[in-house]
Amino acid sequence: MTDHRGWTHCPRCKTDLAFGPIAGEEQDRLNCSGCELVLYDNPAPTSCAVIVRNGRLMLTLRGIEPHKGDWDLPGGYIEVGEHPEEALVREMREETGLEVEITGMLGIFLDTYGDGGTDTLNICYEAGVKGGEEAPASDVIAIGWFSPDEIPANLAFRNTREALDAWLAKGRD
Ligand SMILES: [Zn+2]
Repeated sequence: MTDHRGWTHCPRCKTDLAFGPIAGEEQDRLNCSGCELVLYDNPAPTSCAVIVRNGRLMLTLRGIEPHKGDWDLPGGYIEVGEHPEEALVREMREETGLEVEITGMLGIFLDTYGDGGTDTLNICYEAGVKGGEEAPASDVIAIGWFSPDEIPANLAFRNTREALDAWLAKGRD
């Protein structure tokens, strides 16, 4: 039995999973011989943003593991049927109380959600604040606004650092 993230049984019909060829694909996949479910193990998409106001960018202090107590770019997982832009606006309302307006695309950054965690594909925008009352909520315990030379060292994820580096590299005055 090959160990694929510890997945051993089909989540739909409970048959033992096997890793091997499936119809119409070059690449072997973890699959179920009982109901033909294929577990593609794709990365989970998230939406986040560098949000700037008065020359300072917003970071959120994580209140949950992984990386509880480290600073993160605000954002979260995208729901089924939700556009990444909608996900960002929703997450900002939930986590920060702020209404944001997307101003551009920063980039896409690959990562994992903590050591050995889910693979993530992090879609990062640039955005500004257009309203709302700032109030940390959900898994965020504090909101901080940092000038580019004050960015804290304890950033939560590799993709947080990469997104900020990409933003800094675009050149600000
Ligand atoms: Zn099955």
